[in-house]
Order: sequence, then structure tokens, then C-alpha cells
Amino acid sequence: MDALTITSQQHELLRTTSSTNPSSSPAIVGSTSSALSLPSPSSSPSSSASDTGSLSSQPGTSSSLINIVLQRSSLTSPSSLASLPMETSSLSITRNGNDQEYDEILPASKRSRTTGPDAPDKLERRLGGILCCAVCMDLPNSAVFQCTNGHLMCSACLTHLLADARIRDETATCPSCRCVMTREMCSRNLAVEKAASELPGLCRYCGQELPRSQIAVHEDEKCEDRLTICGFARLGCPWRGPHHELGSHEGSCPHPNKSGREILSSLESLDRQAKEEKRLYDSIFEFLSFEKIAFQDLQWKAYRTEDFIQRLFYETSRFSAFNQQWVVKARVNDNDKDPSQVCERRLSYQLVLKSKPTTPISVHYLILKGPFGDMKVAPYLYRFDFTETSLESPYTLLPLKDSAECNKLLAAKAINFRLIMFQLPK
Ligand SMILES: [Zn+2]
Ligand SMILES: [Zn+2]
Ligand SMILES: [Zn+2]
Ligand SMILES: [Zn+2]
Repeated sequence: MDALTITSQQHELLRTTSSTNPSSSPAIVGSTSSALSLPSPSSSPSSSASDTGSLSSQPGTSSSLINIVLQRSSLTSPSSLASLPMETSSLSITRNGNDQEYDEILPASKRSRTTGPDAPDKLERRLGGILCCAVCMDLPNSAVFQCTNGHLMCSACLTHLLADARIRDETATCPSCRCVMTREMCSRNLAVEKAASELPGLCRYCGQELPRSQIAVHEDEKCEDRLTICGFARLGCPWRGPHHELGSHEGSCPHPNKSGREILSSLESLDRQAKEEKRLYDSIFEFLSFEKIAFQDLQWKAYRTEDFIQRLFYETSRFSAFNQQWVVKARVNDNDKDPSQVCERRLSYQLVLKSKPTTPISVHYLILKGPFGDMKVAPYLYRFDFTETSLESPYTLLPLKDSAECNKLLAAKAINFRLIMFQLPK
């Protein structure tokens, strides 16, 4: 493409990597990605019935059960409850080794089979209590980590604990034994991951019992009760219902027989959404042909403010672009007094001009994940006019995928990203 060659040859394209620290980056990227993307342990046949059987007869079993019971009681303190992810409190009754509570959430048909004196999955339930996460008490679906004393934690809970510790400027500790925990000190426990994936779980739609490793595929593609939308949703049909009713609904759905005039409004709203998205990408393409473009691979490091109540903020080292010095700052949950007390987390950031400009500089800028980071961020352009008297852009939202993504960044040692700046022609 012409545009690209022109950009690199004739135009000012600034790139300084000195402000990033590439030597530390791979370790961070490696550890976070291993925590979040993992091979499905489902296909492994290693945890057969005999393996799990011998596990239960180990002497450590009873003490693990005691630990789990202790952790459950410690969870009732308000501070530890506040630090839990929202969804975990509702999940905590599902599989915690307590037969009675487990039975209560089972469909009636299941209950009668599992409560008999020789119930076949008694062992499975006991194992569920042993292999569950020490924080959310649920059986982990993904990576399982353990503290140096062997207490288990799912990936999401570990990330949440590390993020809370970052916000409070404390050292993260194991909720069971209070030993110090960092991402590096916690090791994966592959045996638990594999064993947990072999244990039965329930489909959230039909309640059918399946090996946990097969539940995702069942719920997404096979379950007859899974939530579906009408095939004519684009024509404005609001119907949603179980998959087995879809055929009969679509047979009688009035929307395909409506006139063009009647469905026009729903088509127009679809058009509006598409146009909105297209406008963003069009403007990015337009800016790419500007004369002055700068991009920078940066790293946010955590600092504390010097206020009486010290607050967490992030700042990059200085970098130069358009013959000026800049930094990018970020903060957690703008207006919240204590972000560690809320489950919803977000980051916002500002661009700060560190040198005094002789003439005003109008800049469009956006943040991307860049080559050293793995943040899931949507492209969103912001604009600010820097002048001699206004050197700081307002704080604007970093459009992350969700709150869990924000916690992932907070739990990491540093946050890597790429900043692209377009200077508007005068
Ligand atoms: Zn957990
Ligand atoms: Zn521990
Ligand atoms: Zn199902
Ligand atoms: Zn319909």
C-alpha cells in the first residue's frame, strides 16, 4: 500500500523504545498469559477412577477438608467478602464439600440418585470439596495455582487477590495460611486441573450431569435448553428462548412476513451501530495519513500518591514525540474513595505534556496492546489541545474488555501498551 511506504520514508515517524523495559516484559507476559490461556486438560486420560480413588486415601485429605472449612468461616469477615469477585459469592454454595448444600442445588431427579447410602458419586463430591478453590469454593475451570504451602486457588481469584494487594499497597497473602503470594511464587497444579476437569458438573440450562471438560461445548452448541435468539432477530424479533422451542417459534414468527416499511426501523438501528463503528476506523485511517505520527511502546509502573491516604497511580517514564516530552498517567476507579472495596474495576488515563510548547499542539491519541502487552483494549480515539497553560488532558476511560481484565492488569508488575499520537495539522 502506498500510504504505508510514504509514512515510513517521508514522514516523521517517531519511535523510542528506551522508555520501556523489554528485559522484564517477557516474564510478565509469560506469566500472565500462562495464567489465562491454557491448554484444555480435558482430553488427558491420566486422572482415571483409580487415580482419584488413591488421592482420597492420602493422609493429607482430611487436613485439606479442615482447611476448607476454616476458610469458609474466615470468609464471613466483611473485608475478605468485599475483596471477592461479585459472582463468587453466588457460586460458593455449589461444590464446597458440604453434601447438604450441594444437594439443594441439584434438580430433583439428581438428588434422589445422589443421596442414597451407596450413591455412586459420593467420592466425586468429596473430591470436589478437596479440589475446589480456597477463595470462591468453586471447582476451577481453568488454571489452578497453589501457595507455597499447597493451598489451591483458581486463576481468577489469584488475580483478584494480587490486584487487591496492589490497590492497598500490601503484600498478597494466602487466605488459608497467610504465606506471602506473588505470581512467581505460586505454581500451577496440573494434577488438580486435570482431576477437576474429569469431575462431573451440571449444565446451567438443563441440569444434565457431564464431565466438566465437556460442559462448555454442551452449553454452547449441544444443549436443547440453551438460550437462543430468533433467526429473524435482525428484522426486529425480540424472541429469546430455549433451543428446542426455536423451530416452532420460527415457524410462527410474524417478522419475516412484515412489510419492508414495518421492519425498516429495526434495520435502521442496525445501520446506525455499523456506521458508528465505521466512523471510528475511518478516522483512524485518515489520521494515519497525517504528516506527524508518533508511536511509543510504554510501560506503566505503579506508584503511590503522597497524600494522607496514599492512592495507587501509574505513570510511564518520559518519552519524546513531536519534539516535546510526555508521560502517560493512569488511575484506578476515578471517583471511588477505596477501589479495593468495590468489585467493578476500571482504569482511566491522561496524556501529560512535560515541556512547555511555544505553539498549541492538537493531538489525537489512542492506546493499543502493543508488542509487549496482552491487554484486551478496544480502540478509542481521544483528542486534546495542549497549550502553554493546559498541559494535561482530562482522565479518560481506558476501554478494557471488563473488570476482570482490569484486575489482570492491576495484578501484573507493570502494564505494557502502545500509545499512538497523531498531531493535527495547523
Ligand atoms: Zn476461585
Ligand atoms: Zn496457603
Ligand atoms: Zn444442557
Ligand atoms: Zn421470531
